[in-house]
Parts: sequence; C-alpha cells; structure tokens
Amino acid sequence: MARLNDNYLKLKAGYLFPEIGRRVKAFCDANPEAAQRLIRCGIGDVTEPLPPAAITALHRAVDEMAVRETFHGYGPEQGYEWLRAAIAQNDFRDRGCDVADDEIFVSDGAKCDTGNILDIFGHKNKIAISDPVYPVYVDTNVMAGHTGEANATGAYARLVYLPCKPGNGFIPEPPRRHVDVIYLCSPNNPTGAAANRPQLEAWVKYALAHEAVILFDAAYEAYLTDPALPHSIYEIPGARDCAIEFRSCSKNGGFTGVRCAFTVVPKSLRAATHTGERLPLHPLWLRRTTTKFNGVSYLVQRGAEALYSPDGQAQVRALIEHYLGNAKVLREGAKQAGLKVFGGLNAPYLWVKAPRGVTSWQAFDKILNEANVVITPGSGFGSKGEGYFRISAFNSRANAEEVARRLPELKW
Ligand SMILES: *Cc1c(COP(=O)(O)O)cnc(C)c1O
Repeated sequence: MARLNDNYLKLKAGYLFPEIGRRVKAFCDANPEAAQRLIRCGIGDVTEPLPPAAITALHRAVDEMAVRETFHGYGPEQGYEWLRAAIAQNDFRDRGCDVADDEIFVSDGAKCDTGNILDIFGHKNKIAISDPVYPVYVDTNVMAGHTGEANATGAYARLVYLPCKPGNGFIPEPPRRHVDVIYLCSPNNPTGAAANRPQLEAWVKYALAHEAVILFDAAYEAYLTDPALPHSIYEIPGARDCAIEFRSCSKNGGFTGVRCAFTVVPKSLRAATHTGERLPLHPLWLRRTTTKFNGVSYLVQRGAEALYSPDGQAQVRALIEHYLGNAKVLREGAKQAGLKVFGGLNAPYLWVKAPRGVTSWQAFDKILNEANVVITPGSGFGSKGEGYFRISAFNSRANAEEVARRLPELKW
C-alpha cells in the first residue's frame, strides 16, 4: 500500500484559526443582535482596495493579453527582468544594499517561499525559531520531517525555541548553543516588534561564526517608520554571506488576493555538502524554481511593477499610513483600558498583555462576549504567547475607532 507522509500526523491540526472561527460562529448564532456589531481584528489580512497605479497596470496588462502582438505566455520562472530590476533598485540598492537583479526571485507568496526554501536545505540542520512565531515556519519543518513530536504546550522536539519577551523587546537573541538555520521575522507577526541594527548585527555575527543561514522574513518592511531601523538584513555588513530575505507585496500593496512576493538569495551565500564542501545556494534555488514553478502571471507582475512607480509608491505610503493610523488609535484605546501594549508603531499588529492571571483564550472570550471584537489569542503562536493577544490594525478607521471605544468599557 502507498505510504503517506507520517510527518503530517505530527501537526497540531491547524488549531488556532479554526478554533477562533468556531467560537465566533457559536457566539453569533447565540447572540444574533451582538453579531451585528461584531468587529474582526483577528486575521492578518488587508482590508483596503488596491492602489490605483496597480489597478491601471493590471487593466493594461489584460488588454495586452487580448492582442496577438502583445500576448504573453510563459514568462521566466524567476520573474520578468523589468520587475526584478525595479525591486533590486528600489528596495535594496537605493538603500545602499548590494543586491543584483538576478538575486531576486519573484514568486506568488512569501508564505510559499518561506516553506519552499526548505527544499534546498538538508535534513540534519538544527533549526531555531522564535516563540511566539508565525506558524508557517514551524509547520513546514514538521512536514519536512525536521522535528520530533509536539509536547503538551505544542513545542516540537528537535526545534530550538528562542523566547521573545518584554525583556528582549520581543526580538530573539542568538542562543549560546549552535544552530544551522534561523528564522527571523521583522517587523514581527505576531508581536509587532521590529529588530534594530545592533540586534541584527548580533544575528549576522552569530550566523557567520556558526556558518548558519538566517531566513529573514521582512513581509512588513513597509511599516517601518523609525528611521534608525534597518529595512533589509543586507543593510548589515556580512549578511550577503549568511542570509536569505523574503519580501511580499501582500501587506504593502494590499496584494494578499493578487499574489506577488519575492525572495533574495545572494550569490555569495554558501552552505555545506555532506562531505563538508561549501557551495553556493543560489544555483539550487534557481534550479528549484525553474523545476517546480512556472512563474507569477504576467498581469500580476505588471501590477507589482506599478507599485514601484512614483504614483504607486505614494499610494502604497498612503495605505501604510492608513493602517498605522489605525494601530495608533487602537494603541490609545488599549492603553486607556489599562492594558500593557507592545508593537503597533512599526508594524500593523499590537501585542497586548492580558491582565494578570487571564489566559489568552479567556481574554479572547471576554473581548468577544463583552466588546464583540475578535482578536487573536497569543498562545496560538507559541507557549510564550500565553497571556497575550494580538490586535490587527487591518481594518477601516471607523472600526478601529469603535474598537478603541469599546476596549476601555471592559471590566476585567
Ligand atoms: C502576511 C505574511 C507574509 C506574506 O505572505 P504572502 O504569501 O506573500 O501573502 C509573510 N510572512 C508573514 C510573517 C506574514 O504575516
């Protein structure tokens, strides 16, 4: 009989968002009137329409497809040169980062890329992730057989968990022990924290000393407002020799439903073969991409390119300012409610400490029942998230203001 991949059976069956959905549905069924005033601040998805520059470019690209002379079939698997050049120039070289056009790989999502990247790594690496964490990093390693079983708190054997706490500003510190692969996400989902230069320097130093690879997820880069904060890991000297960076058009251009992202694999980045030879990873990712992927659609790549036009850049800024404005309103509301709030300044997420002795799920139930607001329980992102909850700023301003009014009315 055919054998299935037993590793999938170790997964904690997608517990968080289905459980939120189940509780919200039960509440709405039991309280149809309260359901009318329900506001969702749970899911990490954008709410506002696409920038007009992207809409125009998408329409134009559709019209090109209608004419034999300008029709496009398969494009290069790694992305069209004009998009790779726009990305490398605007996102990296303009910020002083040494990134070549052909080090950019255009894809249909940073979620897929952070999972697929494991294809080019061996199976014996020690893997470090932060706690709390974006669940994709963990689950893709479970699927690939890089972990043992999960314990009662959901922690998997063989993964190295790096605690993120108020004491370290929710940015994980390099461990004393050796690891080979490190996932860093900054600005962070779920905590909203952003790594500063010394923190990233410490990680690059660690990675170079340990010949480790940093997988740097900068999907929320556009939300950085503090000018002192690095926007790319490649702003740190040495990072070209130890880091892969993931970016996305999802949270800046509102492309969550359009699908376009990219991954940077520097040609100078190397990893060891089983005999100990150090070889570049770039040819492996190129081979992986050309074999398993047929590229992002021409239309979508034209839409993404438009985000880099002067109009597009201004419109993206306006979108980000809208969400960060919401975050500010929500921060004020949560503070007025007497809650301790982190994040929300360089990220669209607030990480809120529940009052003493209140668990993440207790906070979820109370806020749902009494304020009719949906948040995300912090414990769903890892054991160190227990006692916290995440409020997403992806919403209309009116909804953010209403949530900020309701939170202080809660009696804990
Ligand atoms: C939203 C998000 C992404 C982006 O994923 P896409 O597949 O590009 O939409 C990547 N990483 C994190 C941590 C995210 O929250």
